[in-house]
Amino acid sequence: MLWIAAALASDVLLVHGHVWDGSGAPAASADVWVHDDRVQAVGAGLGVPPGATILDASGATVLPGLIDAHVHLSMDPGAGWRHDDDATHAAQVRAHLAAYLACGVTTVLDPAVLPAEEARIRALLADGAPGPRYLSLGAPFSPPGGYVAAVIPGFPTVSNRAEVEAQLDGLLRDGDVGAKVTVERGFLVNRYPLHSPEVFGAIRAGATARNLPIYAHAISPEEQSIALDWLHPRAMVHAMERPDVRLVRQLRAAGTYTITTLAIADAFAAATDLGRLADPFLDARVPASELITARDPEVARGFSEALLQEMLPGLARWVAGPGFMRAALRSHVAEANAAIRALRAGGVPLVLGSDAGNWPLIPYLFHGPSTLRELELLHTAGLTPAEALTAGTRTAAEMLELPLGRITVGSPADLVVVEGDPLSDLRAMRAVRWTVRAGEARTPAGWMGG
Ligand SMILES: [Zn+2]
Repeated sequence: MLWIAAALASDVLLVHGHVWDGSGAPAASADVWVHDDRVQAVGAGLGVPPGATILDASGATVLPGLIDAHVHLSMDPGAGWRHDDDATHAAQVRAHLAAYLACGVTTVLDPAVLPAEEARIRALLADGAPGPRYLSLGAPFSPPGGYVAAVIPGFPTVSNRAEVEAQLDGLLRDGDVGAKVTVERGFLVNRYPLHSPEVFGAIRAGATARNLPIYAHAISPEEQSIALDWLHPRAMVHAMERPDVRLVRQLRAAGTYTITTLAIADAFAAATDLGRLADPFLDARVPASELITARDPEVARGFSEALLQEMLPGLARWVAGPGFMRAALRSHVAEANAAIRALRAGGVPLVLGSDAGNWPLIPYLFHGPSTLRELELLHTAGLTPAEALTAGTRTAAEMLELPLGRITVGSPADLVVVEGDPLSDLRAMRAVRWTVRAGEARTPAGWMGG
């Protein structure tokens, strides 16, 4: 019942923890006093405010709550292989929101969601469902026949200035924090058209006039160059292909952030390694229906086939040998890791994004655990644990221009308390003792049960 007591108190004192405050300073022993939904004080030996709930953080590290800057909350992993009815979908969305908190994620950015789904998610949260701060870019700007509209039915397209203006007004109406624009020719082969110069110009001018930063979905160096020239984006929403030196310099000079999404290629590889899904950590955080889909070998075969079709449309996939998929995925992972290293070396600011939910046919990008996987993959790619955590806290908050991602006096009390020392081993982030969301502290089970 501890979490209920914490929920009712207006003062929470986390004592005897190691505090990593996101400032760049090393972790140090300190207490953190939370008053209502703000951090009131940070320091050694803070006095106990009368009536405060005291949470003993001995042996634990206190960090700013994680920010995942690329999640698709309207999409249920593996839904493309099931026939979920609307009530089931709503229950899964609710479970995903709680799973983020159980994984220490207190803010998410959803870069592609239809207005009706976005309204449903906001209504759930407004109704008291436990969940992270939900920020969104609404529906992306796709050309007719282009990515993402061609892949996911129901998403709109824009082909002229009037349509661009109307969609931008919709973003303002829905409270979205930016505009996502696709600049995507295709995965291994060119198959999608790009926006016309007129539409690129209209998006940039219209978004600037409305003070909406642009997030560009652009993968290849050529697509990213086009995006930089036409859109002046706040961020690139993926890092999947190694940029050349010139592009890295341009990204740095423009102050463009890169959202990492290493978890995508990693999740594709799960189809060829189902054994790693036998993990009790997942059972405690992922809806059972999604785990049944993900652990089904038939689904893995179907998913591999669908992926091959996306990579090699037409006849080419019939001549691709059985080793093609494994080799393609291996080189995809190596390429994405090389991209992260090149961006890091060039001083381009990196922001954690997992792409959880991504595509209804992908059963492996679970909401919540994927964020923690992304942290670990960033470390594998070459970031230190502190750099990976900074990508998922302070740098993400800077990109979003929000006073989050730090533990300072007056900052919103979004915190995560984990067992041990994630700065020497990021897997400690899986052992959440409490997540504090807007001043309310609960255990993972407390959030999942709420
Ligand atoms: Zn995505």
